[in-house]
Amino acid sequence: MKKAIISKIINSSVVDGPGNRMAIFFQGCNFNCMYCHNPETIVNASTNDTKMMSIEDILSEIKKYKSFIRGITVSGGECTLNADFITVLFKEVKKYNLSTMIDSNGSHDFSKDNELMKYTDSVMLDIKAYDREEHKKLTGKYNDMVLKNAEYLAKVGKLYEIRTVIVPEFLSNKETIKSIANLLIDYIKKNNIKYKLIKYRPIGVREEYKDFRVPNDEEMEELKMLALKNGFEEVIVI
Ligand code: SF4
Repeated sequence: MKKAIISKIINSSVVDGPGNRMAIFFQGCNFNCMYCHNPETIVNASTNDTKMMSIEDILSEIKKYKSFIRGITVSGGECTLNADFITVLFKEVKKYNLSTMIDSNGSHDFSKDNELMKYTDSVMLDIKAYDREEHKKLTGKYNDMVLKNAEYLAKVGKLYEIRTVIVPEFLSNKETIKSIANLLIDYIKKNNIKYKLIKYRPIGVREEYKDFRVPNDEEMEELKMLALKNGFEEVIVI
């Protein structure tokens, strides 16, 4: 049976989707974000801190906690680099009546992966920047697929939350918020799409990128108000 490299499993998390959830973090990422606070998870290879796990291995962990959790969330790195693995995992997890969520950088074409979508309840999607060039500068990749996914997931009612890390001066945060609201305006209220604005923090960030400025509370509040004014109804600042 196929195995995947898992960087960690948190048995009980309240920050990876609704309710108490088991969060499973896959190793390896196809982006290279300057502010990545966990750059060791980017490399798609085993290290001393990772574990090769089969679907059965993960299911036996889930079985131990299934009475205490509402569902599972797969995250990363970028978990959809293991889309086939996740599809089988979700299919099995559904048998326990648990919900299934994906936390993703948006690089996988969800609209073309019917099998994965069949077993996925919802997705938390990073939109790191709306502007293509800005996204490329930050992550090393253009965001065409990310935006396509945002629209697709919103349309099919599987977009739980958008996430943006706020980096003052370096990113055009206001433009990103306004453009995302504009892109999703027809679905925000209908599907209760949330927006999480995440304060950039230098913890764990590579030495060469530590100089970004941390936004203050007033700036975060101003961005929250902007998201609310542009159509979001639930905006979380962390
Ligand atoms: S998508 Fe996430 S894990 Fe991947 S490089 Fe960016 S911040 Fe790091």
